[in-house]
Amino acid sequence: MDVEEFLTGGKLRRITRWGEDVMHAKTQPVTEFGEELHTLIRDMFTTMAIAHGVGLAATQVGVDLAVFTYDCPDGDEINQVGVVCNPVVTLPDGDQRNLDSIEEGCLSLPGAYQPLARPDHAVCTGQDPWGNPVTVVGTGLLARCLQHETDHLNGTVFGDRLSNRLRRKLYQQAEELAHLYPSDWPLTPRATSANA
Ligand code: ZN
Repeated sequence: MDVEEFLTGGKLRRITRWGEDVMHAKTQPVTEFGEELHTLIRDMFTTMAIAHGVGLAATQVGVDLAVFTYDCPDGDEINQVGVVCNPVVTLPDGDQRNLDSIEEGCLSLPGAYQPLARPDHAVCTGQDPWGNPVTVVGTGLLARCLQHETDHLNGTVFGDRLSNRLRRKLYQQAEELAHLYPSDWPLTPRATSANA
C-alpha cells in the first residue's frame, strides 16, 4: 500500500466531538473506492497532521464511513503510515494477551488523557484505499491506535471503556481545557494558554 499520494493536497476539516451523533453509531461500510473516498482520505491526513494526531477515523471529520488513517510509531519507534477501510481487529487471547496501561487521548475530546489498559498487540485487517486486502500488525502505540480507531468506526469512544471514576476525571480535564479549543477546531487554531 503506497499512501504517499494522500499525504499532501488535502483540505483541513473540523474535528467532531464526543456527544455528536456520528461519533456514537456504527458506520457504513466503504463500498466505493474512488475519487470521493480518496478526497476524504487526503483531507483526513491533512487534518490529522495539523491536529497532531496519530490516528483519525472518518467519523471524526463528521463522515459516516468505515475508514481510518494513521501515522503512528510502532513498538520499535518506527513510524507507520496507512489507511484501513472496513477494519476488523483481532487481539491475542488467553495466555498470549499482555495488557499495557498507558495514557490515551482522543482528538474528539482534545487535551484530556487517562490511562486505559489494552492489549499491546493487535492485527487489523481490512481494505486499502483501492479496495485491496490489507493487514496491519500493530505493536506499541500502533496496537493501541488500531484498536482506538476501529472502536470509533463501531461507535465506541475510549471513555466508554474507562471506569466511572476515570471517565469523570477525563471529562473534568477536558472541561478545564475546553476554552483552548474553539468549537470548529482545528479550522480555528487552538488558543495558546497565554492568550486564552
Ligand atoms: Zn479518538
